[in-house]
Amino acid sequence: MESLWSKTTRLPDFEASPEDMRVQNLVIGGGIAGILIAYLLQEKGQKVVVLEADKIAFGQTKNTTAKITSQHGLIYHKMVQNTGRERALGYAAANEAAIKKYEEIITKEGISCDFEKVPSFLYTTDPAKILKLRQEEKTAKDLGLKAEYVDGNKMTELPFPISGAVRLDEQAQFHPLEFIQAIAAKLTIYENTNVLEVDDYIVTTDKGMVVADNIIFATHYPFPIVPGFYFLRQHQSRSYVLALEGKGVPQKLSGMYYGIDKNSISFRSADGMLLFGGSSHRTGKKNAPGFCALRKRAKEIYPEADETACWAAQDCMPHDHIPFIGRFSRLKEHWYIATGFQKWGMTTAMVSAMIISDMITGKENRYAWVFSPQRLLIKAGIKDFGIDVCESILGLTKGVFAKKVRKCPHMGCALTWNADEGTWDCPCHGSRFEEKGTLIDNPAQKKLPTER
Ligand SMILES: Cc1cc2nc3c(=O)[nH]c(=O)nc-3n(C[C@H](O)[C@H](O)[C@H](O)COP(=O)(O)OP(=O)(O)OC[C@H]3O[C@@H](n4cnc5c(N)ncnc54)[C@H](O)[C@@H]3O)c2cc1C
Repeated sequence: MESLWSKTTRLPDFEASPEDMRVQNLVIGGGIAGILIAYLLQEKGQKVVVLEADKIAFGQTKNTTAKITSQHGLIYHKMVQNTGRERALGYAAANEAAIKKYEEIITKEGISCDFEKVPSFLYTTDPAKILKLRQEEKTAKDLGLKAEYVDGNKMTELPFPISGAVRLDEQAQFHPLEFIQAIAAKLTIYENTNVLEVDDYIVTTDKGMVVADNIIFATHYPFPIVPGFYFLRQHQSRSYVLALEGKGVPQKLSGMYYGIDKNSISFRSADGMLLFGGSSHRTGKKNAPGFCALRKRAKEIYPEADETACWAAQDCMPHDHIPFIGRFSRLKEHWYIATGFQKWGMTTAMVSAMIISDMITGKENRYAWVFSPQRLLIKAGIKDFGIDVCESILGLTKGVFAKKVRKCPHMGCALTWNADEGTWDCPCHGSRFEEKGTLIDNPAQKKLPTER
């Protein structure tokens, strides 16, 4: 299972960290968030080191679909209702600024990464949902976004009839690993260096000790349980992507598409192929639809298509639907966090880099309050919080009482077998392991104990 991006890029190798180091800023995690945070900090004159447990971009980032957009599903109308217009204004403006920042960096550094300005579309095939799209268009416009409702019969690019869509202009798509390859060449990165523990200013890795003035957790899911309590504030959700080509499959789309209906498909084109994504579910869900359901759908729509690549990834979904970017906790003034990107981490990683680099260099950032991890948005998150607590109690109870279950080393929840991908997945917090126990996805930091 290798993404189109991984198949077409050879990322550079970096050495492991030296035994002991003293650094000004330490970024833990070399995904898109860690790389961008390090780059913007360095641009602002700071000294930065990135520590990556594996290889850079080998976490979720290599398996993204790499749409760079402020259109994050049907969000703006709900966000205004649940969190107020000011916050929604800030969210939209910060993400738009992130798109511009990508363009600025790519131009300034002369990066060749198939960056292309394209509109993004939010579509429905259900006439009953047109009203929702109209509401979204109106709110998005009011928040300053270039949104336009488009009648379904004017949309001919998708392989099925649709009822309507909201188009957002001035959005973009790119090849994420070609971008990272160019940026990483400018940074100080150590790979194969796993951070085991962070105690105030002291970071213990499997290679030695690092002392840092500022520590930035860009590990996708933060591994410290206390402080911050992020395991109570988000869950992980997986999605799947197929790269298709051949008879009947469009080689090039003029836009990027994301459906608002249940089981809808996300589309974009890349390198003469169609990226066909969907089948989302909470990580660790038993009998989840996964690749099987997505392939079945692809076969129905493009019966003669060839599958040239397939991949899957997961992301952190905060209960109140806003990423956590900023100070890790009130108790740790020099710790920073970037997580909870809800499958829109291309733009929100850039938002993280802009906010965190401003915070560290003492510059005011007008969007920082929007994403502050210290917020309390009860109205926006109560339902998801309830679901999460139930899932966690269930997983933990099974972990304690059920016999013959494999337990997650993170908090002891019972793991479920994911037959589709051949992995052990945690339904509580989303850690994943290979069949033999090797750790794939955090927050767990250890592999599974050997079965007896
Ligand atoms: C199927 C799918 C499609 C998506 N498509 C889009 C899209 O079109 N547009 C968009 O905006 N977003 C998209 N996303 C979301 C986006 O891909 C993610 O939000 C983003 O890649 C997350 O980046 P990250 O840097 O936070 O995490 P990661 O890429 O996972 O990076 C974290 C890094 O930290 C390292 N790490 C972890 N723990 C430690 C440790 N203890 N010590 C050292 N290193 C450590 C890991 O090895 C990893 O390399 C998609 C998500 C999915 C699931």
